[in-house]
Amino acid sequence: MKVLVINSGSSSIKYQLLDADSASVIASGVVQRIGEPVAAGSPTIEHKTDGRTFEHGGEVPYQAAGLRLVFELFAESGHDLAEEGLGAVGHRVVHGGEVFYEPTLIDDKVVAAIAELSALAPLHNPANVVGIESARALLPDVPQVAVFDTAFFHGLPAAAKTYAIDAEVAAAHGVRRYGFHGTSHEYVSGQVAEFLGRDPGALNQIVLHLGNGASASAVRGGRAVDTTMGLTPLEGLVMGTRSGDLDPGIIFHLIRTAGMDVNDVDALLNRRSGIKGLSGVNDFRELGRLIETGDPAARLAFEVYIHRLRRYIGAYLVELGRVDAITFTAGVGENDAKVRAAALTGLERFGIRVDEARNTAKDRSARYISPAGAEVAVLVVPTNEELVIARAAARLVG
Ligand code: ADP
Repeated sequence: MKVLVINSGSSSIKYQLLDADSASVIASGVVQRIGEPVAAGSPTIEHKTDGRTFEHGGEVPYQAAGLRLVFELFAESGHDLAEEGLGAVGHRVVHGGEVFYEPTLIDDKVVAAIAELSALAPLHNPANVVGIESARALLPDVPQVAVFDTAFFHGLPAAAKTYAIDAEVAAAHGVRRYGFHGTSHEYVSGQVAEFLGRDPGALNQIVLHLGNGASASAVRGGRAVDTTMGLTPLEGLVMGTRSGDLDPGIIFHLIRTAGMDVNDVDALLNRRSGIKGLSGVNDFRELGRLIETGDPAARLAFEVYIHRLRRYIGAYLVELGRVDAITFTAGVGENDAKVRAAALTGLERFGIRVDEARNTAKDRSARYISPAGAEVAVLVVPTNEELVIARAAARLVG
């Protein structure tokens, strides 16, 4: 079945048309800088299909306009979506709250419920809703399915998902830990079991999804038992532009003493913190170059990032008691050998070792980076959220 997967964010839309059975990608692309002024003709949409790249230049004022342009590029490139025999459209939805924890066929009620959850994900859910509404308008006869980033963590144990605040306040406002990147953690932990040729039910795993956003999870027997992100994707690891964990007192301090209001602090912690806040850049390739020039701020950013990552690896080693596999995935996790080596150095006493040659090998497939015969399998496994979404949509519709 052919499925169009849409990940509609506040300033970008990523999409893929793929065959859910063979996993082959027919077309893919990204719309960037939505709502930002851009120089005339400067490329904002890049659409790839059949070995060719099509571009759209100029401002994309809002998401619905972006999606309409994408549909035009599909037609222009020989894959008119109205005639492509689409079986479903799969939408990545960030927050499913307490309501959604399985792929869900979209109707008006589901759209309204996703919109209602915007209080929990003000940056993400409204953009997801626009993506859904636009796709429904453009493809009214194709079933649309929502796949939720929080779903894999729905069953977190109470101790892991409960914040220690007044229980009534928490219940009244949906304040608990939900976790995100669930599609990736679920897919990667499943791939690990397949790669190792082991029953997923018998494995204890730590999955490190290190992209622009970053999260870790502890997975016991195929079920998530802990994760670093919480009510929102701001908690946990240090990320490209997000702070991750901090003393909540910092927020009050800034509001009381720095003349910031709640929106200023929100923007600070989500967009001007993390690696970017510390070093000025959020991409690990640039960070690596800065470190090589001896830039002390870049070095500190790397050390803070690794310090937090190791803290959670330690926490999950204790929570799981026995760990069979530790897996790196997403942009940084799949590509940055220095991050992987630093994250796991000095843990030999726990059976955790990284082989330097394997770690630095230029290989893009799922692979070991621990030496042969190591007690704990340390792996790199590419994530593929689009494929999970496409397969979930195809399963539900088919
Ligand atoms: P997201 O889906 O959260 O936007 P990705 O998983 O695509 O993020 O990861 C993007 C990040 O991966 C980039 O910001 C960059 O820091 C990092 N990255 C990508 N390629 C490399 C590379 N070759 N070496 C180091 N880091 C890389």
